Amino acid sequence: MKPLKSVFLVSVGSCALFAACTAPEVARVSANYPFVAGTTADAASAADTTLSDSAVSGADATQESDVTAPDAGPAVPDTGAPDASTAAMDIGAPDAGPAAPDAGAPDASTVAMDIGASDAGPAATDTETSDASAAVVDGDVAPGGCETLYRGARIAGAGDAPTDVCVTGGLFTAIGPAGTLVGAVVKDVTDRWLAPAVIDSHVHLVYYPAAEALAAGGVIAGIDQAAPPSFFSTDFAPMTVLGSGPMITATLGYPTQGWGSDGYGLEVPVGDVPAAIAAVDTVVSLGAALIKVPLEQGPKLTDEQLVAVVTRAHALGRKVSVHALSEETAEKAALIGADILAHTPVEPLSDATVAAWGSRAVVSTLSAFGGAAVTQLARLRTAGARVLYGTDFGNTTALGPSALEISRLTQAGLDGAAILEAMTSAPADYWGLSDLGTIGPGKRAAFLVLAQDPVLEPAVLANPAEVVLP
Ligand SMILES: [Zn+2]
Repeated sequence: MKPLKSVFLVSVGSCALFAACTAPEVARVSANYPFVAGTTADAASAADTTLSDSAVSGADATQESDVTAPDAGPAVPDTGAPDASTAAMDIGAPDAGPAAPDAGAPDASTVAMDIGASDAGPAATDTETSDASAAVVDGDVAPGGCETLYRGARIAGAGDAPTDVCVTGGLFTAIGPAGTLVGAVVKDVTDRWLAPAVIDSHVHLVYYPAAEALAAGGVIAGIDQAAPPSFFSTDFAPMTVLGSGPMITATLGYPTQGWGSDGYGLEVPVGDVPAAIAAVDTVVSLGAALIKVPLEQGPKLTDEQLVAVVTRAHALGRKVSVHALSEETAEKAALIGADILAHTPVEPLSDATVAAWGSRAVVSTLSAFGGAAVTQLARLRTAGARVLYGTDFGNTTALGPSALEISRLTQAGLDGAAILEAMTSAPADYWGLSDLGTIGPGKRAAFLVLAQDPVLEPAVLANPAEVVLP
């Protein structure tokens, strides 16, 4: 967490545009927690951590009630807002869970390849099928070529064949039938399953700076959906983090008057279209990989401004994520051309709105809101929407894959394979994280060692036996 305010000031040149760009980041974060907790009362956050303690169940109950009372909508949660109190506590009691698996997982039988070639990239996976052993034996794999060999595991989602997985230089370099590869160090993982480390499509890692612990728990990458400009000069290693930076919002709009008062919103005068477009340019120039727009609470951008924001974002190759929890705002989000719902809406959606989102994407965040959101996610998925696992980390606090999120994804109708996909290959594809989300030659060797098959028992993803990071 290095704020590097001076760098920010120089590069932005218009610090006044931001809500509170002068506050020292580090101090702000810790000071904010109690503040936030008191103001946002976000039941959601209780989430994971609480699975085991009574406090938790209480939290959950609250959430459920919100659900039934949809009107509460905007008021309720604030998505991005972490529940300070919870967060603080959780840290001590991490919910280490684990991770996910993946879709792209190579098929053991087909994967074997040429290590030499694999260095190249993520790409090729299973073409060369057939003679795995041959590929292995003559490659550079053997002594020296394969630093660490994981022997005998199943690759989640790729069948029951015991497999050898070679890791060298932080990358998967070869995969073949068990007993066919050679490594300088051999780890016997017979009767275990390997799954790619998880990608969380909704986190707040400046608000809740726990990237290292989150990665240690099995989450290798995150999409940060609201942060002050300091985000762009922050080192999140070992995580890979893409982010929106400040949400583009109306003057005094969400979230600048609450949890996000310290730079989480870039305010634009209501009605000023050129300023809205300039705001997109500003965050993109800072390094925004996506654009985040709130449609709930307080003063809002006009429809014309919103359309201009989406148009500009798309022209710059950025997807637009919206904070929209109600039917009204989810409908508007679709109309303005937004790409992804930052949360599953908590309010019952109309059939038309569900259909409008069927060709787009939604981040689950069921552990942050629960209740009605579960039903809406099921409907959106049935309509064809791409579901990405996301916890609203910061608002929730599980330091690893979230057991509660996984449980609620199950309630929403996703089976183990679908959950794995939502946690790994689907977000890798959606966000362009091509070196993650799959166990295959050329991919980064960030993975979970699991005691059970996550396709049959997805809950195991929240409790990995081991987390291996590059
Ligand atoms: Zn959020």
